[in-house]
Amino acid sequence: MIAARDGGRRVALVPTMGYLHEGHLSLMREARRRVGPEGLAVASIFVNPTQFGPQEDLARYPRDLEGDLAKCAAAGVDAVLAPERPEQVFAPGHQTWIEVGPVAQGLCGARRPGHFRGVATVVMKLFQLTRPQVALFGEKDWQQLQVIRAMVRDLDLDVEVVGMPIVREPDGLARSSRNAYLSPDERRRALALSRTLAEAQERARAGQRDAARLAESARAALASAGARVDYVEIVEPESLQPVARAAPGSRMLVAAYLGTTRLIDNAALP
Ligand code: AMP
Repeated sequence: MIAARDGGRRVALVPTMGYLHEGHLSLMREARRRVGPEGLAVASIFVNPTQFGPQEDLARYPRDLEGDLAKCAAAGVDAVLAPERPEQVFAPGHQTWIEVGPVAQGLCGARRPGHFRGVATVVMKLFQLTRPQVALFGEKDWQQLQVIRAMVRDLDLDVEVVGMPIVREPDGLARSSRNAYLSPDERRRALALSRTLAEAQERARAGQRDAARLAESARAALASAGARVDYVEIVEPESLQPVARAAPGSRMLVAAYLGTTRLIDNAALP
Protein backbone atom coordinates (compact mmCIF):
# COMPACT_ATOMS: atom_id res chain seq x y z
CA MET A 1 0.00 0.00 0.00
CA ILE A 2 2.94 2.28 0.65
CA ALA A 3 4.15 1.29 -2.80
CA ALA A 4 0.70 2.09 -4.18
CA ARG A 5 0.75 5.59 -2.79
CA ASP A 6 4.36 6.17 -3.79
CA GLY A 7 3.47 4.91 -7.25
CA GLY A 8 0.89 7.69 -7.55
CA ARG A 9 -2.22 5.59 -6.87
CA ARG A 10 -4.82 7.06 -4.56
CA VAL A 11 -5.43 5.06 -1.40
CA ALA A 12 -8.61 5.19 0.70
CA LEU A 13 -8.94 3.45 4.05
CA VAL A 14 -12.04 2.25 5.91
CA PRO A 15 -11.15 1.10 9.44
CA THR A 16 -13.62 -1.37 10.98
CA MET A 17 -13.93 -3.99 13.68
CA GLY A 18 -15.64 -6.39 11.28
CA TYR A 19 -18.97 -8.24 11.44
CA LEU A 20 -19.79 -6.00 8.54
CA HIS A 21 -23.21 -4.55 7.77
CA GLU A 22 -24.64 -1.99 5.35
CA GLY A 23 -23.17 0.90 7.40
CA HIS A 24 -19.64 -0.38 6.86
CA LEU A 25 -20.35 -1.25 3.23
CA SER A 26 -21.56 2.27 2.45
CA LEU A 27 -18.14 3.54 3.58
CA MET A 28 -16.37 0.95 1.43
CA ARG A 29 -18.37 1.79 -1.69
CA GLU A 30 -17.60 5.46 -1.16
CA ALA A 31 -13.90 4.60 -0.71
CA ARG A 32 -14.00 2.74 -4.02
CA ARG A 33 -15.71 5.70 -5.71
CA ARG A 34 -13.25 8.22 -4.33
CA VAL A 35 -10.07 6.48 -5.47
CA GLY A 36 -11.44 5.60 -8.90
CA PRO A 37 -10.68 2.43 -10.86
CA GLU A 38 -6.91 2.97 -10.66
CA GLY A 39 -6.83 3.62 -6.93
CA LEU A 40 -6.66 1.28 -3.98
CA ALA A 41 -9.66 0.89 -1.66
CA VAL A 42 -8.45 -0.65 1.61
CA ALA A 43 -10.49 -1.86 4.57
CA SER A 44 -9.15 -2.97 7.91
CA ILE A 45 -10.85 -5.52 10.13
CA PHE A 46 -9.41 -5.49 13.62
CA VAL A 47 -11.18 -5.85 16.95
CA ASN A 48 -8.87 -3.44 18.73
CA PRO A 49 -8.43 -4.57 22.34
CA THR A 50 -7.05 -1.20 23.44
CA GLN A 51 -10.40 0.53 22.91
CA PHE A 52 -12.35 -1.87 25.16
CA GLY A 53 -12.65 -1.44 28.93
CA PRO A 54 -11.99 -4.41 31.23
CA GLN A 55 -15.73 -5.01 31.79
CA GLU A 56 -16.68 -4.60 28.11
CA ASP A 57 -17.49 -7.05 25.33
CA LEU A 58 -14.06 -7.65 23.75
CA ALA A 59 -14.13 -11.44 24.23
CA ARG A 60 -17.60 -11.89 22.76
CA TYR A 61 -17.51 -9.19 20.08
CA PRO A 62 -19.10 -10.85 17.01
CA ARG A 63 -16.73 -12.01 14.28
CA ASP A 64 -17.13 -13.49 10.80
CA LEU A 65 -13.93 -12.99 8.84
CA GLU A 66 -14.90 -15.22 5.93
CA GLY A 67 -18.26 -13.52 5.44
CA ASP A 68 -16.63 -10.11 5.87
CA LEU A 69 -14.03 -10.77 3.17
CA ALA A 70 -16.78 -11.66 0.69
CA LYS A 71 -18.69 -8.47 1.58
CA CYS A 72 -15.54 -6.36 1.18
CA ALA A 73 -14.92 -7.83 -2.26
CA ALA A 74 -18.52 -7.19 -3.30
CA ALA A 75 -18.23 -3.57 -2.09
CA GLY A 76 -15.21 -3.01 -4.34
CA VAL A 77 -12.45 -3.24 -1.74
CA ASP A 78 -9.05 -4.19 -3.19
CA ALA A 79 -7.19 -5.11 -0.02
CA VAL A 80 -8.19 -6.04 3.51
CA LEU A 81 -5.85 -5.61 6.44
CA ALA A 82 -7.00 -8.20 8.97
CA PRO A 83 -4.39 -8.87 11.63
CA GLU A 84 -5.02 -12.29 13.16
CA ARG A 85 -3.58 -11.51 16.56
CA PRO A 86 -3.62 -8.24 18.54
CA GLU A 87 0.15 -8.53 19.13
CA GLN A 88 0.67 -8.03 15.41
CA VAL A 89 -0.62 -4.48 15.92
CA PHE A 90 0.26 -3.80 19.54
CA ALA A 91 3.56 -5.57 20.10
CA PRO A 92 4.58 -6.50 23.62
CA GLY A 93 6.10 -3.39 25.20
CA HIS A 94 3.93 -0.99 23.23
CA GLN A 95 4.01 2.26 25.23
CA THR A 96 3.04 5.12 22.94
CA TRP A 97 -0.49 6.52 22.98
CA ILE A 98 -2.44 9.36 21.43
CA GLU A 99 -4.53 11.32 23.91
CA VAL A 100 -7.00 13.70 22.30
CA GLY A 101 -8.23 16.59 24.48
CA PRO A 102 -11.69 17.84 25.48
CA VAL A 103 -13.50 16.47 22.42
CA ALA A 104 -12.60 12.95 23.61
CA GLN A 105 -13.36 13.50 27.27
CA GLY A 106 -17.15 13.86 27.62
CA LEU A 107 -19.94 11.53 26.47
CA CYS A 108 -18.52 8.09 25.55
CA GLY A 109 -15.07 9.29 26.64
CA ALA A 110 -16.34 9.81 30.18
CA ARG A 111 -18.22 6.48 30.31
CA ARG A 112 -15.51 4.44 28.61
CA PRO A 113 -12.17 5.56 30.08
CA GLY A 114 -9.31 4.92 27.65
CA HIS A 115 -11.66 4.20 24.75
CA PHE A 116 -10.69 7.13 22.52
CA ARG A 117 -7.02 6.80 23.37
CA GLY A 118 -7.27 3.25 22.00
CA VAL A 119 -9.23 4.42 18.96
CA ALA A 120 -6.92 7.33 18.12
CA THR A 121 -3.79 5.23 18.56
CA VAL A 122 -5.00 2.34 16.40
CA VAL A 123 -6.26 4.70 13.68
CA MET A 124 -2.88 6.44 13.66
CA LYS A 125 -1.18 3.07 13.30
CA LEU A 126 -3.56 2.05 10.49
CA PHE A 127 -2.76 5.33 8.72
CA GLN A 128 0.95 4.55 9.01
CA LEU A 129 0.46 1.00 7.74
CA THR A 130 -1.71 1.91 4.76
CA ARG A 131 -0.74 5.56 4.00
CA PRO A 132 -4.20 6.66 2.76
CA GLN A 133 -4.98 10.08 1.31
CA VAL A 134 -8.60 9.56 2.35
CA ALA A 135 -10.12 7.79 5.36
CA LEU A 136 -13.84 7.22 5.82
CA PHE A 137 -15.75 7.08 9.10
CA GLY A 138 -19.46 6.86 9.93
CA GLU A 139 -21.45 9.61 11.61
CA LYS A 140 -23.02 6.87 13.69
CA ASP A 141 -19.96 7.24 15.92
CA TRP A 142 -20.17 11.03 15.89
CA GLN A 143 -17.76 11.61 18.77
CA GLN A 144 -15.23 9.22 17.24
CA LEU A 145 -15.41 11.18 13.98
CA GLN A 146 -14.67 14.45 15.81
CA VAL A 147 -11.83 12.82 17.74
CA ILE A 148 -10.23 11.61 14.49
CA ARG A 149 -10.69 15.04 12.91
CA ALA A 150 -8.98 16.67 15.91
CA MET A 151 -6.07 14.21 15.76
CA VAL A 152 -5.58 14.71 12.02
CA ARG A 153 -5.63 18.48 12.40
CA ASP A 154 -3.46 18.67 15.51
CA LEU A 155 -0.82 16.25 14.24
CA ASP A 156 -0.79 17.67 10.68
CA LEU A 157 -1.65 14.29 9.18
CA ASP A 158 -1.95 14.34 5.42
CA VAL A 159 -5.29 12.50 5.35
CA GLU A 160 -8.70 13.75 4.28
CA VAL A 161 -11.28 12.56 6.81
CA VAL A 162 -14.70 11.89 5.29
CA GLY A 163 -17.79 11.47 7.48
CA MET A 164 -20.60 9.33 6.07
CA PRO A 165 -24.33 9.39 6.96
CA ILE A 166 -25.80 6.88 9.40
CA VAL A 167 -27.23 3.80 7.69
CA ARG A 168 -30.40 2.56 9.42
CA GLU A 169 -32.69 -0.45 9.40
CA PRO A 170 -36.03 0.18 7.66
CA ASP A 171 -37.64 0.93 11.04
CA GLY A 172 -34.95 3.49 11.98
CA LEU A 173 -32.56 1.54 14.21
CA ALA A 174 -28.97 2.52 13.38
CA ARG A 175 -27.07 -0.43 11.95
CA SER A 176 -24.48 -1.73 14.40
CA SER A 177 -22.52 -4.95 14.82
CA ARG A 178 -23.74 -4.91 18.43
CA ASN A 179 -27.39 -5.17 17.30
CA ALA A 180 -26.60 -8.89 17.01
CA TYR A 181 -26.61 -9.06 20.82
CA LEU A 182 -30.26 -7.97 21.11
CA SER A 183 -33.04 -10.40 22.00
CA PRO A 184 -36.24 -9.94 19.95
CA ASP A 185 -37.74 -7.95 22.82
CA GLU A 186 -34.64 -5.74 23.20
CA ARG A 187 -34.59 -5.25 19.43
CA ARG A 188 -38.13 -3.83 19.61
CA ARG A 189 -37.24 -1.57 22.52
CA ALA A 190 -34.03 -0.43 20.81
CA LEU A 191 -36.22 1.52 18.39
CA ALA A 192 -36.58 4.04 21.21
CA LEU A 193 -33.18 5.55 20.39
CA SER A 194 -33.94 6.63 16.84
CA ARG A 195 -37.53 7.45 17.71
CA THR A 196 -36.43 9.66 20.59
CA LEU A 197 -34.04 11.53 18.32
CA ALA A 198 -36.82 12.06 15.77
CA GLU A 199 -39.10 13.37 18.51
CA ALA A 200 -36.42 15.80 19.68
CA GLN A 201 -36.06 17.04 16.11
CA GLU A 202 -39.84 17.56 16.00
CA ARG A 203 -39.82 19.47 19.30
CA ALA A 204 -36.93 21.64 18.15
CA ARG A 205 -38.71 22.32 14.86
CA ALA A 206 -41.79 23.32 16.81
CA GLY A 207 -39.73 25.91 18.67
CA GLN A 208 -38.41 24.16 21.79
CA ARG A 209 -34.81 25.36 21.99
CA ASP A 210 -34.09 24.75 25.65
CA ALA A 211 -31.47 21.99 25.64
CA ALA A 212 -32.20 20.83 29.19
CA ARG A 213 -35.90 20.40 28.37
CA LEU A 214 -35.21 18.59 25.11
CA ALA A 215 -32.80 16.27 26.88
CA GLU A 216 -35.21 15.66 29.75
CA SER A 217 -38.04 14.64 27.38
CA ALA A 218 -35.62 12.35 25.57
CA ARG A 219 -34.49 10.68 28.80
CA ALA A 220 -38.10 10.13 29.81
CA ALA A 221 -38.99 8.65 26.40
CA LEU A 222 -36.03 6.26 26.50
CA ALA A 223 -36.77 5.18 30.06
CA SER A 224 -40.45 4.58 29.37
CA ALA A 225 -39.51 2.37 26.42
CA GLY A 226 -37.42 0.24 28.76
CA ALA A 227 -34.00 1.52 27.71
CA ARG A 228 -31.60 2.40 30.52
CA VAL A 229 -30.19 5.82 29.72
CA ASP A 230 -26.42 6.18 29.78
CA TYR A 231 -26.42 9.75 28.50
CA VAL A 232 -28.49 12.21 26.50
CA GLU A 233 -26.70 15.43 25.59
CA ILE A 234 -27.11 18.28 23.17
CA VAL A 235 -23.77 19.61 22.05
CA GLU A 236 -22.00 21.85 19.60
CA PRO A 237 -21.29 19.44 16.73
CA GLU A 238 -17.49 19.82 16.47
CA SER A 239 -16.26 20.70 19.94
CA LEU A 240 -18.96 18.52 21.57
CA GLN A 241 -19.34 21.13 24.30
CA PRO A 242 -22.86 21.16 25.80
CA VAL A 243 -25.14 23.96 24.63
CA ALA A 244 -27.86 25.65 26.69
CA ARG A 245 -30.01 26.39 23.66
CA ALA A 246 -30.25 24.17 20.61
CA ALA A 247 -29.11 26.02 17.49
CA PRO A 248 -29.38 24.71 13.93
CA GLY A 249 -26.75 21.97 13.64
CA SER A 250 -26.58 21.28 17.36
CA ARG A 251 -26.34 17.55 17.78
CA MET A 252 -28.26 15.33 20.15
CA LEU A 253 -26.21 12.29 21.18
CA VAL A 254 -27.71 9.36 23.07
CA ALA A 255 -26.34 6.19 24.62
CA ALA A 256 -28.60 3.63 26.27
CA TYR A 257 -28.57 0.04 27.43
CA LEU A 258 -31.03 -2.59 26.25
CA GLY A 259 -30.36 -5.32 28.75
CA THR A 260 -26.58 -5.50 28.81
CA THR A 261 -26.14 -4.14 25.27
CA ARG A 262 -25.06 -0.52 25.02
CA LEU A 263 -26.18 1.29 21.84
CA ILE A 264 -25.48 4.82 20.65
CA ASP A 265 -27.16 7.08 18.11
CA ASN A 266 -27.23 10.78 17.25
CA ALA A 267 -28.93 13.33 15.04
CA ALA A 268 -28.64 16.99 14.06
CA LEU A 269 -31.34 19.26 15.43
CA PRO A 270 -33.04 21.45 12.85
P1 AMP B 1 -17.04 -0.39 13.78
O1 AMP B 1 -16.80 -1.66 13.05
O2 AMP B 1 -18.25 -0.39 14.64
O3 AMP B 1 -15.80 0.10 14.50
O4 AMP B 1 -17.35 0.70 12.68
C1 AMP B 1 -16.43 0.94 11.63
C2 AMP B 1 -16.84 2.19 10.89
O5 AMP B 1 -18.14 2.02 10.35
C3 AMP B 1 -16.89 3.43 11.80
O6 AMP B 1 -16.40 4.55 11.08
C4 AMP B 1 -18.36 3.55 12.07
O7 AMP B 1 -18.77 4.87 12.38
C5 AMP B 1 -18.96 3.09 10.77
N1 AMP B 1 -20.34 2.67 10.97
C6 AMP B 1 -20.79 1.75 11.86
N2 AMP B 1 -22.13 1.67 11.82
C7 AMP B 1 -22.55 2.56 10.89
C8 AMP B 1 -23.81 2.96 10.38
N3 AMP B 1 -24.94 2.43 10.83
N4 AMP B 1 -23.86 3.91 9.43
C9 AMP B 1 -22.72 4.46 8.97
N5 AMP B 1 -21.48 4.14 9.41
C10 AMP B 1 -21.39 3.20 10.35
